[in-house]
Amino acid sequence: MPAIPVGGLVPRAVEEAAENAADVVVRNAKIHTGDARRPQAGALAIRDGVITVVGDDPDVAPAIGPSTVVVDALGRRVVPGLNDAHLHVIRGGLNYVLELRWDGVPSLRRALAMLREQAARTPRGQWVRVVGGWSAEQFAERRLPTPAELNEAAPDTPVFVLHLYQSAILNRAALRAVGYTRDTPDPKGGQIVRGRGGEPNGMLLAAPSALVLYSTLAKAPVLEGEDRATSTRHFLRELNRFGLTSAIDAAGGFQSFPENYATVTRLAREGLLTLRIAYHLFPQTPGQELDDLTRWIETVRPGDGDAWLRLNGAGENLTWAAADFENFAEPRPELGPYEGEFEKAVRLLTEHGWGFRLHATYDETIRRDLAVFEKLAAEGLFPAGNRWLFDHAETVSRDSLDRIAALGGSLSVQNRLSFQGEVFTRRHGVGAAAEAPPIRAMLERGLTVAAGTDATRVSSYNPWVALHWLVSGRTVGGSAIRPPQNRVDRATALAMYTTAGAALTGEQDVKGVLRTGCYGDLAVLSEDYFTVPEPEIPSIESLLTVVGGRIVHAAAEYEGMDEELPPVSPGWSPVAHFGGYQASGRTSGAGARQAELLGEVVAESQLHHRWRVARGLADEHHQPFDPCFLL
Ligand SMILES: [Zn+2]
Repeated sequence: MPAIPVGGLVPRAVEEAAENAADVVVRNAKIHTGDARRPQAGALAIRDGVITVVGDDPDVAPAIGPSTVVVDALGRRVVPGLNDAHLHVIRGGLNYVLELRWDGVPSLRRALAMLREQAARTPRGQWVRVVGGWSAEQFAERRLPTPAELNEAAPDTPVFVLHLYQSAILNRAALRAVGYTRDTPDPKGGQIVRGRGGEPNGMLLAAPSALVLYSTLAKAPVLEGEDRATSTRHFLRELNRFGLTSAIDAAGGFQSFPENYATVTRLAREGLLTLRIAYHLFPQTPGQELDDLTRWIETVRPGDGDAWLRLNGAGENLTWAAADFENFAEPRPELGPYEGEFEKAVRLLTEHGWGFRLHATYDETIRRDLAVFEKLAAEGLFPAGNRWLFDHAETVSRDSLDRIAALGGSLSVQNRLSFQGEVFTRRHGVGAAAEAPPIRAMLERGLTVAAGTDATRVSSYNPWVALHWLVSGRTVGGSAIRPPQNRVDRATALAMYTTAGAALTGEQDVKGVLRTGCYGDLAVLSEDYFTVPEPEIPSIESLLTVVGGRIVHAAAEYEGMDEELPPVSPGWSPVAHFGGYQASGRTSGAGARQAELLGEVVAESQLHHRWRVARGLADEHHQPFDPCFLL
């Protein structure tokens, strides 16, 4: 808040203090800066959205003015704000409040109870939809629900449950709503599973194309008007809850430009985004890709926008025929000839200064793509100074990695195999799974390797599940798939989630590290990511998330410090009742570990008490925690 001059006069001292004062100071922290020149710090100050001081408590003291918000981190770990380098965040935002999220739910029993409860409050004409973010392997039962269980839980409300990009399960009411009958033909690359007599039984299978799954989902009602904005804002806050401050959007099917970008653009204009988004443009109609790209090249250009919302290029698909599907339950798809159109698209983009990202799951696809790039490179046309990268690359070979490096490309990997590791191993074998993707081989070549989730329709958006996968090699079902030689240490994984993402959008000088002059984007974590036992990494959340000096998420002792948000609308939304990711609490260890935890809790509560006393929130004699309650 600026000082208000009284009668046109401002006392000099106050004026100077206000001029130099930070908007936010974080002190008493264990800051991992990500900056090699000063890796650790105890405090920092942010003014006008940018970090002005990184040091220790005495260094930030002069920056504290009358209106500075001082955050006592209580010795907690602070990290640079996370950046999911492959998130369908714009599409996810438009649908968020309509979805029942099974992310993090530990049992099918609980998942079905949520579904039953939600069906009971869902008004006529609306659906209950569970759209990704979970896997059968995460359930204690290790199986999918059956159509009969969905019918039992929701006799009259249409229910659509998407399991990865492998299958969907519909109840009887949903089959009626979408109009699938014995006469409905199977769509290309998909299967409507039928029972006796040819009637659809409620199962849809990607075989291997997921088109049957998302085209069926596209028949569900969508949000309109102001609800789209509210939904997007709540989704961004849900991401802030885990310490995310940036994402690179990967566009997606049924995500058309410019129509489906109107909400996020409006929110950016009104200063209401709480996550920085760099987005890509993805041609929607097979056969019309070059027309779409040409039209976009004439109207917008990469870099358009600002620090909150900016265009970063084309992709993750450039042409539909070149897309391989990541349905690891099915054999690798054989793609037909696609190089002709694909080469035209790449040529068009690079000639016009457009970088791109490219979806490619298998090395067979990557080799064909690389041959096209190398042909253009021989003509001096590629990459012509443009940033480009491969997304996913689960089975990329070392030879292809060398070719990517030679062409100045980058990579972005996601924890899709957190959710599909078991099924991948069953189909491709333990050896292939150990290398899927070959993260260490990528890093050893000096390639930029950014990390993310590919949420929301396959993986969960929870970055700590992805970070756990990077460092442990384990799935959400607990199977160790990648051996130690293809895992990364925690600092490397965090760098993949921060600095590498910034490099993919050309923002490496302002984002991803906590350094003077960089954006004031950070998270105060619930647990110390660097020392918490490995199995507890997925349970980490942010207690305080700051983006550009704005507090966009605040929990625990910081509750109420964040910006206000309108309530979830419509009121029957599953998010209004269940929230998003379902935190299951920390896994309890052996007796010794429990004793250690209890000691930590007591020490922490004393610290917390002193912190509250210092702020006049409690008196010295009042015990804020009842030790019996704690036990
Ligand atoms: Zn993709």
